This record gives sequence, structure tokens and C-alpha cells, in this order.
Amino acid sequence: MPSIRRSKRLLLLLIPIVLFLIFLTLGHYEKLPPQISPEWSFLSLGNKFNYSYLGSNNTNSVFPVMSTYEELGFQLVPEDVKFQYINKMGKKGSPKDILKINMDKYKSLMDQEIHEPKDFDMETIRPPQDPKSYDHASATIVSLVRGAEAAALGKSIVQFEKKFNSKFLYPYTFINDVPFTDSFKERMRKYSLAPMNFVTIPAELWDKPESIDEAKERKAMDILASKDVSYAKKASYHNMCRFYSGNFYQLEEMKKYKYYWRIEPGVKFYSDINYDIFKYLEGTQKIYGFTINLYDIDESVETLWPETLKYLNSEDNYKYVNVNGAFQWILENQQLPKKNRVTGGYSTCHFWSNFEIGDMDFFRGEAYTNWFKFLDSTGKFYYERWGDAPVHSLGLALFADKKDIHWFRDIGYWHDPYANCPNSKGTLDCEKGLFSRWDNLNDQNCMATWVDDAIENPEKIY
Ligand code: GDP
Ligand code: MN
Repeated sequence: MPSIRRSKRLLLLLIPIVLFLIFLTLGHYEKLPPQISPEWSFLSLGNKFNYSYLGSNNTNSVFPVMSTYEELGFQLVPEDVKFQYINKMGKKGSPKDILKINMDKYKSLMDQEIHEPKDFDMETIRPPQDPKSYDHASATIVSLVRGAEAAALGKSIVQFEKKFNSKFLYPYTFINDVPFTDSFKERMRKYSLAPMNFVTIPAELWDKPESIDEAKERKAMDILASKDVSYAKKASYHNMCRFYSGNFYQLEEMKKYKYYWRIEPGVKFYSDINYDIFKYLEGTQKIYGFTINLYDIDESVETLWPETLKYLNSEDNYKYVNVNGAFQWILENQQLPKKNRVTGGYSTCHFWSNFEIGDMDFFRGEAYTNWFKFLDSTGKFYYERWGDAPVHSLGLALFADKKDIHWFRDIGYWHDPYANCPNSKGTLDCEKGLFSRWDNLNDQNCMATWVDDAIENPEKIY
């Protein structure tokens, strides 16, 4: 029977093909890094979680990596997520020696002459002829401020307008927990031709949640205050930190925008900026920009890292961690090792959030939102004094790709007592390379650790 013979032949042909395919599949599994379960990889490649805000190539990078926990310094396994500092640069010595190494590195970075970023065609984002009819990016300048700070904020805005915003006229969003007075509004309008919106925060986004146990809070704050933690007993400061950590981007008036640039009363801007900062972020797909990078008061964030680890190790939250996160920056323990001892392993390095330029879609995304909700549920914006700066920074270090976080080296900036003062032609009135006006605060600088972890080639961007 010819037809049976044909199907036998077909079967004989199929067997080696099937065997070959099985062999290929097994080979592929072998190539998976041992610390990342196959389930994790497929989950992240599937549609269960939307990674699009992380930009391109995030998930692909999982596959070629072949390293151990000891080599990588992290492990993303369900209910067994862990991190360790691996001293990539092989720095050796006492904290004093390390400080010297890191300060020298900072100095050599700051000695370098700074131009505009090189990773985007700046000619396409120059100031328009007429900023009023300009096609703006979806962005606002935001300032949470008290009415009594009008004069100090005015000074900052005058500089900000001169250096940047008069060329673009991005709108301002002023935010307050109580309504702004008419005289405040009139005064602000004198400083800029840009549109201005004055927003009163709804109580549910600002006030201390009812779930906070006030007796427990008082006791905890007495202890923090006895350790000289600034603002420990200032109730409004805790509200402010919680608001900026998790709620500002949920205000109706902020939901209109994708990007924000935060400014504060009393800050200074030293550099002439001749390109659209927001379109630079948009064009490069970066999600966050900073100028100053420093250590925090460890007692204020004593359990922020352990609580975060608890979160990452529950349910399938491990899947939110970005394999290209800035883990080593948040784990560093050589310059100020006491920080890590107090915080259960967090260096306390953070972006100083009084200056920040960011993409709110990152904060509104599933990864950051779920984590913030968990943090809020611990009550520790009140039982400790978690700041919005370490919270933003940990979120970014864990859930974003470090290549999408940008040090605006070209923007000279001051918030007492620290500065970013670049060696550039367009920078005036600050001392080039100065980090703090107090020498004894130089050990608070965490920039070298950031560069070591996150910027492969600092000359490439500037
Ligand atoms: P520091 O930089 O950590 O010392 O804190 P600031 O006192 O500068 O506060 C950070 C920002 O939040 C500033 O822009 C303040 O104007 C603002 N801020 C702090 N507390 C309050 C508050 O209770 N109400 C309002 N409306 N703004 C606040
Ligand atoms: Mn401030």
C-alpha cells in the first residue's frame, strides 16, 4: 500500500525534526541566568505587566546575562528577592580613604568642561521665535509652597525665567494645602508671562490618614527628635513628604501633564539653558533628571529598605524590579557605612528632590503605585519621617532602567547648603565644582557612587 509507506517515510522525517526542536528548547533554558526563574522571564515578556514605560530593550537584556548572585549583586526570584553590594570598582580602604577616592572622582568630573547633552539633536529643540504660539511638550513647572514664602519663591522664579522659562513659557502649577490669597497670585503673575494655575490640595491627598495611631506617632517622633532628626515633630512636614512621594501627580490639575519640573522657594539657577528640557526628556525617552545626589539622615528612613524588601518578596511583586536598576547605588556601604547599619542595608543615597524633572507616567505606573500604596499602608510617613526624596529615589533605582535617569550636569543649581556648579560658559555666579558651602558636608556627596553604578562613560553624554 503506497499511502502507508509514504506516511512511514514522513514519520521518519519528522522524528529528527522534533528531536532537534526539543534540543533547541532545552538549550534555550540552559542559557537563562540561574537567579532568574524561567517563569519570571516569561511573565515579564508576556502581557501580564506593562513594561512600556521603561523604554526599549528592558526585557531582552534578561536573556544574555549568565551570572550568579555573587557576581550580579541581585536575585529576582519569587519570595526570595535579594540584593548585595558588590563593590564593582574594587575600592579599598577606610571610609576616609573611600571618601578621598570619591571626592577626587567628583572633582575630576566637575573639572571637565560641560556643554549641552550630546545624546540628542539639540537644534530640533531650540527656543521658539514666539513662545506663546509654541507647540509645548505636556509639562508644567510645579511648586508646593506656603503663602508666606512668596518673596523667596519670587526670587527663584525670576532666575528660573531668565535662564529658561521666558524662552518657552511653560505653565506653572502652584500648590498649597490652604487656598492661595489674591495677593499671592498677583505677585506670582508679575514674575512671568507664562500661564499660572493655583491649586488647593483636597484634604484626602494631604491630611494625615485616620488610620495613623497618634499616640504611637507621638512616641516615635519624641525618639526621632531626641536623635536630632530635623522636622521630626513638624506635622505638616510629614504631610508634605507623603504628598510629594505619592500624591502630587494624582491632582486633577497635574493629570493634564506628563512631565513636571519641581522648584522651591530660595533655590538658585546659575546656567543659561537654550533647549527645551522637556522635549529633551521626551526625545531621549528619559524619565527623570536630577542635579544633586547625596546621603540622607539614616534615622529618618530606618525601615524604608526592609519594608521595601518585604514588599518585593510578597506575592509576585518581584516582577516589577527592573534588571537594569541602580541597585549598587542604593546598596553602597563604603563612604558612610553607618548609614547602611541603621537602615538595614540602604546607603540612603538619593536624588535631592527639591530639584527634579520627571515623567509622571513613571510614578503613575503600576510598579511605583503599588509600592507606594504598600509604603503608605505601613504608616511610616508618620511613625518614621520618610522623605519624598529617598522614596522617589528607591522607586527609580528599583523600577526604572538607570540609563533613563539623567544627571543634568549642565544646570547650575543651588538649594542651601548644596550645589551643582558646572564648568561651562553659560554658568555664572557659582564656584565651579563646589558641592557644599561647608567643607565638612563633602562626605554627604553620593555622586561618585551614582556615576560608578549608572554611567558607563560620563564623557559620552556631556
Ligand atoms: P526642606 O527643603 O526639606 O528643608 O523642606 P522645605 O521647607 O523647603 O519644604 C519643601 C517644599 O514643600 C517647599 O517648596 C515648601 O514650600 C513646601 N512645603 C513644606 N511644608 C509645607 C506646608 O505645610 N504647606 C505648603 N503649602 N507647602 C509646604
Ligand atoms: Mn527646601
